[in-house]
Amino acid sequence: MRVAFFSTKSYDKISFARNADSYTHEFTFFEAKLDRHSAVLAEGHDAVCAFVNDQLDKQTLKSLKEVGVELIALRCAGYNQVDLDCARNLGISIVRVPAYSPEAVAEHAFALILTLSRKTHKAYNRVRENNYSIEGLTGINLHGKTVGVIGTGAIGKAFCRIALGFGCKVLAYDIYENEELKSLGVSYVTLDEIMQQSTILSLHCPLTPDTKHLINKNTLEKMQDGCMLINTSRGALIETKSVIRSLKNGKIGFLGIDVYEQEEDLFFQNRSEEILQDEQIARLMTFPNVLITGHQAFLTKEALDQIAKTTLDNLSAFEQGKVLENAVK
Ligand code: NAD
Repeated sequence: MRVAFFSTKSYDKISFARNADSYTHEFTFFEAKLDRHSAVLAEGHDAVCAFVNDQLDKQTLKSLKEVGVELIALRCAGYNQVDLDCARNLGISIVRVPAYSPEAVAEHAFALILTLSRKTHKAYNRVRENNYSIEGLTGINLHGKTVGVIGTGAIGKAFCRIALGFGCKVLAYDIYENEELKSLGVSYVTLDEIMQQSTILSLHCPLTPDTKHLINKNTLEKMQDGCMLINTSRGALIETKSVIRSLKNGKIGFLGIDVYEQEEDLFFQNRSEEILQDEQIARLMTFPNVLITGHQAFLTKEALDQIAKTTLDNLSAFEQGKVLENAVK
């Protein structure tokens, strides 16, 4: 397969090269994000390989079809960026990497939790400045806390196991209950109950019309004063303006996010020389109890290798006319 690879970063090239030995696919790596303007770059390729913030809307899909693209190989799990109806009508197949290392994301969620709960980001800076004062660094124990998990699929499950290991009481909400988690001691409750009872709430469900702004003015009112909210899933699960209000009045005591509602034109780029135009993320950054990472929860060597392997297998399956096990339906 000739594959046009969009939104390329150095770590993509390295992980695909490391895993490409037994495959014959040819890649053209483009740094450009895939959108209606850059789609023409795919001319002469059978497939495109796209990532989370590439825009696969109607116009882009039509342009890709016109230049001969038959397959979109997403190198991510989520597919909310694709107009699936349009792809189906155009006869373009979509494949993805359904699970590549749930532990990578679950562990990053815990990195956010531990940094916020023990203020290690502040301690790091202080000690480097020869300041060994521990005033203002009082943290909270995780042991014995009630942790709520919304979405207990691959990542949510890995997260629950870690939380149980810390000695937390783990509550879960999902449209499907997982028997294995129940046998480990996780209790499924209603959405209202998880909001009311969780001291720490971590989001692991996909972004769908049902889950968009799951965390909003009304649901925030139900949450405990001073609670911790963690989002490593998709930015739009959270209504940012309501969360800012809740940070101001203390309803949210800690916020850790790896994803952001308006991340599309912001993340994955070095913008250190630019003036920040996004007022909401600028406001979020002013809170001492907010920790933001730029969509890096997936970024471990193990996850990148699995993403490359599954993507290469998806391309081979399509080339050989096999059933596409990882097709997005
Ligand atoms: P998954 O499909 O294995 O699990 C998702 C779970 O959410 C399922 O159990 C599903 O039943 C549940 N769910 C669906 N709709 C729901 C609803 N309305 N309310 C409650 N639960 C609902 O997916 P996963 O691999 O665990 O990934 C979860 C999400 O994590 C992905 O959709 C993606 O957006 C995000 N993600 C982020 C990163 C990152 O780097 N930050 C990396 C990978 C995935």
